[in-house]
Amino acid sequence: MSTPIDLDALNRLADVAVNVGLNLQPGQDLILTAPAEALPLVRAVAAAAYRAGAGVVTPILSDPGVTLARFEHGSDDSFDTAPAWLYAGMADAYNNGAARMAIVGEDPMLLSEQDPEKVARAGKANSIAYKPALEKIANFAINWSIASYPTLDWAKRIFPDMADEDAVAALADAIFAASRVNTPDPVAAWADHNAALATRTKWLNAQRFAALHFTSPGTDLTVGLADGHEWHGGASEAQNGVTCNPNIPTEEVFTTPHADRVNGTVRSTKPLSHQGSLIDEIEVRFENGVIVEARAAKGEAVLQKLLDTDDGARKLGEVALVPHSSPISQSGLLFYNTLYDENAACHIALGQCYSKCFLDGANLTPEQIADQGGNSSMIHVDWMIGGPDTDIDGITADGTRVPVFRGGEWAAPA
Ligand code: ZN
Ligand code: ZN
Repeated sequence: MSTPIDLDALNRLADVAVNVGLNLQPGQDLILTAPAEALPLVRAVAAAAYRAGAGVVTPILSDPGVTLARFEHGSDDSFDTAPAWLYAGMADAYNNGAARMAIVGEDPMLLSEQDPEKVARAGKANSIAYKPALEKIANFAINWSIASYPTLDWAKRIFPDMADEDAVAALADAIFAASRVNTPDPVAAWADHNAALATRTKWLNAQRFAALHFTSPGTDLTVGLADGHEWHGGASEAQNGVTCNPNIPTEEVFTTPHADRVNGTVRSTKPLSHQGSLIDEIEVRFENGVIVEARAAKGEAVLQKLLDTDDGARKLGEVALVPHSSPISQSGLLFYNTLYDENAACHIALGQCYSKCFLDGANLTPEQIADQGGNSSMIHVDWMIGGPDTDIDGITADGTRVPVFRGGEWAAPA
């Protein structure tokens, strides 16, 4: 059978994923998760990993049919369980030096027809079991990266009116363009892109802003930044000393807001695809860091449920800046996938903060991070607040305002 996916480009993507995304080190083991349909990319990644001197590459595949079988036939009790042994094994592998790659591409609406109660219980059980492994990722203990594969079901969500092969080809092209592998030398293109992002983070870190003030139609939001926050973006160094690019693609620079110092109103600029549901036209009001009013034109019940997850779910854990001219924004596509959609626009995230977004973050205890304003929660959900009209001022501790964005683009010196 022929495939509508350009195999040369797929090999270049594998090369970028292993050598830029992970920067896999000789002798390093690799744990690779992927949908079974992504096997062509799994094989290409394994080949690139072994060429880079990998120890052992262990793929773990998922399948939408297997996932749906659970919801159709699984006993009710089973929705409160998760494979803790698998996640414990992953954490053990990370402690022993393994790297981690996730290839994503699942149908974003896979569970949309299933009982929301079961979906929520299964998600919660999984979050709890996954915690020891997730902490290594969230704390950036090891080099890890996410890349993506154009599965048919995902492609049909984005391009519902196209024939199957055309939809897959269109999504493949969008992935290759956003991942900068449609250039003759993708590794060099990534070096240039990382250098440009580093210029932005360096400038922001030198400003030491106390807050960012966002204004655009429906938005007048002041986001206080955490004490000792640090901006990150593009390549950064994991605690194991390996410099990697956790997201392929990536366009954002991001840091940690202060959990108690967010005030004002904000309107979403793109729909949020969350666990098979679409939440659209979100409007929330913050008071001293907490969301005290929340509305959505579509999916409001899902939004309210999300906000009720735990105490930290009503507070911010991330603020990120992405110019409107980003290639993902210019594609005009809604990918129904955070990896892409969060790189289309400035965004904020409800929930857990990243400890790496603090000066000396690796050596701070969870209590110190909380004291400095870092939020904690079981969720981390990004939603888009930026667009062509977004203006942002940086506000210093003495109240001076510095233009950061004007009309959706960087106003700061490049
Ligand atoms: Zn982000
Ligand atoms: Zn995020």
